[in-house]
Amino acid sequence: MGTGLFSEIEYLRGVGKARGEKYRKLGITSPYELIYHIPRAYLDFRCHVPVRQAELNAYNVLKLTIFRKMPPQRVRGGLVICKAAATDGIDDIIIVIYNNVYGFNALKEGETYYMYGKVTGNFLRREISAPTYISASEKILIQPIYPLTQGLSVNMLRQNMKQALELLKADPFETLPTELREKYNLCSLEYALENIHFPETEEAAETARRRLAFDELLKLQLGMSMMKTRSRRSTACKMSREIPIDEFERGLPFELTEAQQRAINEITADMCGEIPMNRLLQGDVGSGKTAVAAAACYFSVKNGFQAALMAPTEILAMQHHRTLSEFLEPFGIDVTLLTGSLTPKKKAALREKIASGEADVIVGTHAIIQKDIEYKSLGLVITDEQHRFGVAQRAALAEKGGAPHKLVMSATPIPRTLALIIYGDLDISVINQLPKGRKPVNTYAVTGKLRHRAFGFVRARLDEGRQAYVVCPMIEESENDLLAVKTYAENAAEGDLKGYTLELLHGRMKAAEKERVMKKFRDGEIQVLICTTVVEVGVDVPNAAVMVIENAERFGLSQLHQLRGRVGRGEYDSTCILITDNTGEECRRRMKIMSSTTDGFKISEEDLKMRGPGDFFGSAQHGLPPLKIADIACSMEIMNEAQECARELLADDPTLSKPENRALKMDTLRLFNKEIVG
Ligand code: ADP
Ligand code: MG
Repeated sequence: MGTGLFSEIEYLRGVGKARGEKYRKLGITSPYELIYHIPRAYLDFRCHVPVRQAELNAYNVLKLTIFRKMPPQRVRGGLVICKAAATDGIDDIIIVIYNNVYGFNALKEGETYYMYGKVTGNFLRREISAPTYISASEKILIQPIYPLTQGLSVNMLRQNMKQALELLKADPFETLPTELREKYNLCSLEYALENIHFPETEEAAETARRRLAFDELLKLQLGMSMMKTRSRRSTACKMSREIPIDEFERGLPFELTEAQQRAINEITADMCGEIPMNRLLQGDVGSGKTAVAAAACYFSVKNGFQAALMAPTEILAMQHHRTLSEFLEPFGIDVTLLTGSLTPKKKAALREKIASGEADVIVGTHAIIQKDIEYKSLGLVITDEQHRFGVAQRAALAEKGGAPHKLVMSATPIPRTLALIIYGDLDISVINQLPKGRKPVNTYAVTGKLRHRAFGFVRARLDEGRQAYVVCPMIEESENDLLAVKTYAENAAEGDLKGYTLELLHGRMKAAEKERVMKKFRDGEIQVLICTTVVEVGVDVPNAAVMVIENAERFGLSQLHQLRGRVGRGEYDSTCILITDNTGEECRRRMKIMSSTTDGFKISEEDLKMRGPGDFFGSAQHGLPPLKIADIACSMEIMNEAQECARELLADDPTLSKPENRALKMDTLRLFNKEIVG
C-alpha cells in the first residue's frame, strides 16, 4: 500500500500541528482516514439562480462577478468583516465574509464565481454571507459537503484530499476480486474514492457511492460472521442433558406456549454443546421471553454454573429480579440484584457473594460485566432488550470467565434481511406466538380535539379497576422537556384526571425513586402513570390496560410498538390511543399502520419499507460499528447483494485467509476497530 497513506495526518503538505488537531477532532488521524471522510451530500453549482430570484433567508447558488472589494473592517470584539460588491449582470449584491481575511484576499475583482450561501436583505439591498464558492472557470461544478470543524475550511480539506488521493494512486489497492466486481457491477475502489470526493457528474458520484456502500455492508456482514466463527472455537461450560427442567416448567403459574417450549429446547441443546451458545431470542413484546430466560437460568444453575442476566435499565433489572426470584427461589436458587447505584460497602458484599458462588443468578445492569466483578463459575449470560447493547459490549461479554453461553433477547422484531446483518454473529430463535387468550390492543389515532373524549374513555376504564399509562415524549431529556412533562401531569391532575391517583415517572429520577413509583403502580396504588419512554422496554403490569400516547408523531414505528406492548399483557381488553395533530403524509401512514396491526414483525417490515435501510443504519440503536456511508446511501438492493456476496465469500473461505481476500479482511478489521481477533 502507498507509503504515507497510513502515516500521521501531518504527513500531508500544509498540515501542521494546528490543522492536524482539527483533523483529529473529526476523527481523522491519517491520510487514509481523510479519504474515508465521506461527504454527506453535494452542492451542485450548476443550478444557480439570478440574484432577483434568490430566496431570502435561505441558501442559494448565485453566479457573481466581483466589481469592488472594500477594505476589511475591524469591529468590536476582534471581529473582522470583509465586504465586496458583486453583480450577476443585472442586479447587485454584497458579499459578506467574517473573520477570514485570508479567504477574502483570494477573491479577485473582475473575476466570476459560483457562490453558495445564505441570502438576506430586501428587494433593494441584498447580502450573501459566508459563501462557499468556486471559480466560474472550474470544470467540476459539483462539490461535496463535508462535516467540518471550526477553522477547517472546505477548500483546505479539498487540497489535502487531493494529495491523499495521490498517495492512494501511487500504489492503488483493491479489496474486491475482479470477478466479484464484475458480478455485482461495481467500479474499482480507486475510482470510487476519487469520485466520491471529486465527481465530474452526478452519475460518477452515484457509482462511487454504490461501491462504497456495498463495501461497508459487505464488511459489516463479514465482520459479524467472523465474530461468530471466533466464538465457535472457544471451549464451553458444557452442561448435561440429564438435568430435567420439567420440574421448573410445572412450577410456572401458566402453561408455556409451543413457541416458548421450542425456544427452551433450542437453548438447552446449545448449552449441552461443545462450543458456547451464541443465540438471539427474538420475540414480539409480550411473547414471554422472561420465562424462557428463567428456564435457561434454571438449567445452568442445576448444572452447577452461575447465570447472569443483564438489562438496559435499572427499572427493568429490578423487575427481572422480582420475576426470576418468584420463578426460581422455590427451587432453592438464589437470585441476586446488582445495579450501579449501590453503596460501595453493599457492592463489596455482593461481589463476595458472587465470587464465592453463593449467588446463583445475578441480575443487573451493565454493572454485572464490569471488570471488578468476578464469578465463581459463570455458565450463562443473558442480555435483555439487546438493541440497547452494542456489538462491542457483546464482545466484552464473551471475555468473561470461561466462555459462558450467551443468550440475547430482543423485543424489537426486525425483518430477516436486517437481522442477518445486525445479528450475523448469532443463531436465532423466534417466539412467533403470544400466550393464549391475549387480545390485540385496540388502537386509535385521534387529533388533540378529541383529547377530552379520549380521557373520558380512560376514566371509564379506570372506574372498572384498570390502570393506565400516559406517555409524553421527552426526546431530549432536557430541562425544558422535563418541565413540559411536569406541567402536563399537573394539568391532568387538575383537569381530565381529577380525582384519580397519578404519578410521574421519567428518566431523570433516581433509581430508588423510580422503583418506588413502579412498585406503587404494580401494586395498584397508582391508577395512572404519566411517564416518558422509560416504560418503553420490558415493563410488565398486566392490570394496565389503557395507554395514551401524546405527540405520537414524535415516535418512530418500532418505538410506538414497544410502548404499546406495555398494555394488552393480561386478560383484559386493552386500548391504545395515539394523539397527534400532525397531518403530514408520513405521520398519517405510521398511525394507520399502528391502528391496523399489532404484529411486530409486520410493523418492522413496514418501517423498513417507509424509511429504507439507510435510516435504520443511521440510528444509534443498533450498536453496530459506526458506518460512514451505508447509513445514507444504501438501498435494499445493495443490501441484498452485499449479503449474497458475503455468503459466497465465506462459503469459499470462512476465515478470509486466502491471499486474494487478505485486503478485504484487513479492511473489515479496520471497520470493527480490531474487535475481532482473526
Ligand atoms: P416479553 O417477551 O415482552 O419480555 P414477558 O416475559 O414480560 O414478555 O411476559 C409478558 C407477560 O406474559 C408476563 O406477565 C408473563 O408472566 C406472561 N406470560 C409469559 N408466558 C406466558 C404463557 N405461556 N401463558 C400466559 N402468560 C404468560
Ligand atoms: Mg421483556
